[in-house]
Amino acid sequence: MGNKAYKFRIYPNQEQQAFLAKCFGCSRFVYNHFIRVTTDIYAESKKHFRYKEWANLLVKLKREFDWLSEVNSQSLQQTLKDLESAFTRFFKKLGKFPRFKRKSNRQSFRVPQHFSITEDNKLKLPKMDAIYMVIHREIEGTIKSVTISKTPSGKYFASILTEQALPKAPLNGEKIGLDLGLKDFCITSKPEKFPNPRYFKKSLRRLKIRQRRLSRKAKESNNRNKARLTVARIHEKVANQRLDYQHKISLKLVCENQAISCEDLNIKGMVKNRKLSKQISDVAWGQFLNLLEYKGELYGCEIHRVDRFFPSSKRCSRCGYIKEDLTLKDREWDCPECHVHHDRDINACHNLLAFSELKILSEGQESTPKNAVEMQRINS
Ligand SMILES: [Zn+2]
Repeated sequence: MGNKAYKFRIYPNQEQQAFLAKCFGCSRFVYNHFIRVTTDIYAESKKHFRYKEWANLLVKLKREFDWLSEVNSQSLQQTLKDLESAFTRFFKKLGKFPRFKRKSNRQSFRVPQHFSITEDNKLKLPKMDAIYMVIHREIEGTIKSVTISKTPSGKYFASILTEQALPKAPLNGEKIGLDLGLKDFCITSKPEKFPNPRYFKKSLRRLKIRQRRLSRKAKESNNRNKARLTVARIHEKVANQRLDYQHKISLKLVCENQAISCEDLNIKGMVKNRKLSKQISDVAWGQFLNLLEYKGELYGCEIHRVDRFFPSSKRCSRCGYIKEDLTLKDREWDCPECHVHHDRDINACHNLLAFSELKILSEGQESTPKNAVEMQRINS
């Protein structure tokens, strides 16, 4: 069994929009309030406050601010559970310190129970009338929870989380190495290359004009809000184009293969390189790797992340020679040891694949002396 989410657009009427705004606001208020409480308590007494303590404090908070009782109480509790997992990720060094939610960003709240889809395909949430929803594909599996969100451009969505039996992987034994790049978005050891569409760069001129117009509008004016929406829509379109492209490639890769080895990228470190930072944000490798892992689990394809300090580009995938003087500009090179002609990226893919196979071998069984020597040779 695994989780799969379906995202549908919803069209709340004005009255419903006003109520949803309250729900977003309360959820944001509670989230931000408890980040503050937790940091304060930790600074004072070095105690880690968690969901249990928060839930008790929430009851008191609701007495103080009675408007918190107007929205679904389970959604507020769910907000605290989400905050708890954000803190857990932070303490496990898997994520950043939870950030304050802002009104100008994407808004959301989750409904864990007591919601339903009516016979005429509307979404019924606690404390409000059913909302018109466009169900563009059939929902399979058991429905677990629903998350309502609003984009900065003003669109509303319902993301329905389900649990379902997952399809089995194609038993073809195909394994590939996958390298991510800027010139080509990704390259496989097959070899296969997927171009980098550079969506952000293509919209940059339009975006600059609109942003300039926005900056000239008077604060708090109607025209400023209109200009803000236009800018938000351009950003949204770029993000949608990118996501769509990545969905297609990741689905193709996990359906055709049983194992994919790719580099574990240090994206934060790379974005610090100011010359490349815009291009690197535009390719959104992090999002792609998440999609790959999510789909890998859905379709039964293993994703192996290879240590990023492994010299995948400089090593000859045939004889193991390390070419120390290889620069970023060298797209192709010849190995001085075995005289094979290499395409830089495809060679890197072959190395990633070989490395992760060795690693699996040494983790799966007793590490044999031969493996250990080979691992050392590759690592050095
Ligand atoms: Zn060689």
